[in-house]
Amino acid sequence: MTPVRIDTAQPVVVVPSSVPTPAGEAVRTVADDPFRRVDRMEWPGPNAYRSANGAPGPAYWQQRADYTIAATLDTAAQSVSGTVTIRYTNNSPDTLRALWLQLEQNLYRTGSTGSTLYPAESRWGVRGFEGGYDIREVTVGGRSAELRVEDTMGRIDLAAPLAPKGGTTTIAIRYAFKVPEHGSDRMGRDGTLYELAQWYPRMAVYDDVRGWNTDPYLGQGEFYLEYGDFDYSITAPAGYVVAGSGTLQNPSEVLTAAQRERLARAAKSADVVRIVTADEAKPVPTTGTKVWRFRAENVRDVAWAAAPDFRWDATSWNGVLTQAFYPWPRAGRAWESGAEQTQWSIRTYSQLIHPYPYPQATSVAGPVGGMEYPMFVMVHYGTEDPASIFGTVDHEQGHEWFPMLVGSNERRYAWQDEGFNTYINAFSNERRVPGSNSLPAYLNNWRTVHANGTDAPLMTPPDRIDPSALGALGYRKPGAVMLALRNEAVGRETFDRAMREYARRWAFKHPTPADFFRTVEDVSGQDLSWFWNGFFYTTDQLDLGIAGVETKEVEGRRVATVTITRGSSIVFPPSIRLRLADGSTQDARFPVQLWSTCGRQSCDRVQASVVVRSPVTGARLWPQGNVPDFVADNDGWGSAPDADKQPSTTGGLATPIAGAAKP
Ligand SMILES: [Zn+2]
Repeated sequence: MTPVRIDTAQPVVVVPSSVPTPAGEAVRTVADDPFRRVDRMEWPGPNAYRSANGAPGPAYWQQRADYTIAATLDTAAQSVSGTVTIRYTNNSPDTLRALWLQLEQNLYRTGSTGSTLYPAESRWGVRGFEGGYDIREVTVGGRSAELRVEDTMGRIDLAAPLAPKGGTTTIAIRYAFKVPEHGSDRMGRDGTLYELAQWYPRMAVYDDVRGWNTDPYLGQGEFYLEYGDFDYSITAPAGYVVAGSGTLQNPSEVLTAAQRERLARAAKSADVVRIVTADEAKPVPTTGTKVWRFRAENVRDVAWAAAPDFRWDATSWNGVLTQAFYPWPRAGRAWESGAEQTQWSIRTYSQLIHPYPYPQATSVAGPVGGMEYPMFVMVHYGTEDPASIFGTVDHEQGHEWFPMLVGSNERRYAWQDEGFNTYINAFSNERRVPGSNSLPAYLNNWRTVHANGTDAPLMTPPDRIDPSALGALGYRKPGAVMLALRNEAVGRETFDRAMREYARRWAFKHPTPADFFRTVEDVSGQDLSWFWNGFFYTTDQLDLGIAGVETKEVEGRRVATVTITRGSSIVFPPSIRLRLADGSTQDARFPVQLWSTCGRQSCDRVQASVVVRSPVTGARLWPQGNVPDFVADNDGWGSAPDADKQPSTTGGLATPIAGAAKP
């Protein structure tokens, strides 16, 4: 971490921190200068790879990894074995002399780092399972090579350097692993049902920001992966149905004529078609195997599931096949709505953020509580009630935008993944259940971790967050922060444009936090350093208050002067509802620059003026009820008027994206 420098002519990379002031001494630093909160933050770059406006730069590059995988599911041995062939393209300007791969199954090796960090029974715990990759053969360019295993990562030292700007090589690995029952809630099995992910050695990301990204897989932090095309085949017992990322390539070999006809119908229908019916979803004794072949283009990963008792439903929207696979009857009758719910999410987020880029979207029921992969998500079993699965189906499908389409580094920045997703989920939930409002639950969760001391800045890597606080810090705090950014800082219509532009610019690419911050500033034309500083880099809580309101006659007009206090480092544009002596109310919004006009003095008390019709008798901060100000008892003054009842914190979807507007 860079120490905070003072009085330098160089741009200061401000690592926001609180510098303790010794009692009785006045020590001013960059960190307690209120000006820095409204001056432009300095972020890494810009450079030829990442532009100052937040878009990929003219020399932006990204590695490419195309995969061919042939794997066999052995349900007797409860194992997967196979061969992965990776065609790796080095588009970087650097010559590479070694390659790094991700070997997540090694989390289940005895003594792995993750298994020692997380209690065995916890969500990420390995439950004493002894597994890990059995790497049987490795070649590079057809010649034998060694994979040096370092916990969940592996390095191959290349016999010949890989040339920059387009050099390619082919890595082939023969491997096997035992499937854990509880795969850290990201994969696993339940009896005859298998949910497979992190199931083949994958390329680590080499980027312009960190070079090789070798942060290990510990269980809690998620993934960061290169894009490419995948051809993969799963050999499974003949009585099994396999669901997976991508498009099924050989329906004539694995489906009956009736099932193929139903699938063709579903692809053109807005109503749900039963592809494998309840009657057909009964395991029958079979011998032999079937091979299921899939192809997925422009994805960062593939995952799949297999069971002998899957029901399979499908429908479509805008040319996208939306599907549900669920073991029957144990998945619960809620899953009969799974295909419709999947369709709902694909439509909603296509209209809100960016058109869904893939040909199909699948939700599968199983023991995993909720986990996302390209075109394929895992969701827990349900009850009789369709609502018992909607929140999770919708959340996991929302991940198709963040981080499947917009491929940020989840292992470093949960807020760009879970946080953005939780933010867009608020829109879908409120659309699905009119009158509902996600914000109070987001704020409560944030308040809880703040009260119990597990709060951390949003920029904290998820593996360094207290596991009990991950839901708040990875999901709901950034969800609430994004809603405040949209509703109160940037403005709804402009912020919706900024999110769409961020998705458009960084689709199938690797944005960093600064690329997001710069894009929002570029689209809105606003310097939002105060917002990023306050809500992404600190654990401080917003606390504005009203100390008083004075009404005076100034040149024949009535002017109310509001004294506003600030109890923390965080600044915010105050919005206020005034109660007037004539019985009416009047809303006023003051600019955030209010907090920058007191020179080097600490701006903890400022005054703002507004012309009023009649003398002010009371005032209330945050009349929309949308702002995360956690100290409520100083938000009213005099006969304070009520805040709105919060019928919605989103105001609904802004105008749907053109081309994604089909009902
Ligand atoms: Zn998530």
